[in-house]
Amino acid sequence: MKKHNFFAGPAILPQSVMKKAAEAAVEYNGLGLSLMEISHRSADVVEIMNNAEQHVRDLFNLSDDYAVLFLTGGASSQFYMAAMNLADSQEKTGYVDTGTWSAKAIKEANKFSEAVELASSKEKNYTYIPKGYDVPQGLNYVHLTSNNTVFGTQTKEWVNCDAPLVSDMSSDIFSREIPVEKFGLIYAGAQKNVGLAGTTLVIVRKDLVGQRQRDIPTMLDYTTHINKNSAFNTPPVFSIYVTMLNLKWIIDHGGVKAMEERNEEKASLLYGEIDSNPLFEGTTDIADRSTMNATFVLKDNNLDEQFLSLCAEAGIMGIKGHRSVGGFRASMYNAMEKDSVETLVSVMQHLKNAHA
Ligand SMILES: *Cc1c(COP(=O)(O)O)cnc(C)c1O
Repeated sequence: MKKHNFFAGPAILPQSVMKKAAEAAVEYNGLGLSLMEISHRSADVVEIMNNAEQHVRDLFNLSDDYAVLFLTGGASSQFYMAAMNLADSQEKTGYVDTGTWSAKAIKEANKFSEAVELASSKEKNYTYIPKGYDVPQGLNYVHLTSNNTVFGTQTKEWVNCDAPLVSDMSSDIFSREIPVEKFGLIYAGAQKNVGLAGTTLVIVRKDLVGQRQRDIPTMLDYTTHINKNSAFNTPPVFSIYVTMLNLKWIIDHGGVKAMEERNEEKASLLYGEIDSNPLFEGTTDIADRSTMNATFVLKDNNLDEQFLSLCAEAGIMGIKGHRSVGGFRASMYNAMEKDSVETLVSVMQHLKNAHA
């Protein structure tokens, strides 16, 4: 039976990407060796890295003002690298607190800058995205979590300010068009919409780096990785390969604009059912709903077990909400086909009919 992968991350990848990755795991490009056992200085690997970078540039139409890096340490390492590289200790950075991941980013940023909390939706358990807050002058940057994977909210309008935006886009990068020129730094762990865990995509405006007074450890300095094309030390080649294949898949399927349409179609299908099915309700403000991670509950949680077993019977996996919020979460990243969402919707209708 076909499985429908709604896991939040690590998450669904296109079948064609996994097939190519499986081949490369055994033998790459007729070399008689696996991609996992060849030098990161070899022509084959340099080509993979260059292609991965070029795909990112093409998808976001990036100018040469930006560097594209494939680092390690996950988005979680960018929480401190961002502040370490873009602000000095006495300088101010602005943060919008929209959930678990933002809170972690703020904690780390405070170690390397004076992180000012510009707004927070904590008092309503992060069920909305704050808007209309003031941004004071003189911030080195303003940090936003574009999509809140745990709570199911997504930033739809980018705040207007003089400071460059820095964004953790781990769970919605390449899912829609963005005004790239507003951003000084974009980062994303690869395991949601980019590729395979092990690499972290970093897009950074080159003029913002190399300006700090502090002595940044070599491996944590963006300058190091810009100068060495992400190969100062041994990069996670296999993750970058899967990432390259997945980015190519996005390009071949029409790029971010086409992904946006595809994702909106899937999301409106599911939210339409959540809103019309009397057994269910959404958990966030409608205006701020994420197209990537839909969070919802059964009004009568005595039905939870029955719903989960119906899902399992239909091949639906990974639908349980994050352990910190409960309920249900359907993650619908780029690679998810519409038929998976249709399957989920039909299970929700089935449950309704059984209890009508
Ligand atoms: C998953 C996730 C992270 C954590 O990423 P790691 O690569 O595991 O460090 C950070 N931010 C957001 C928005 C996420 O969804």
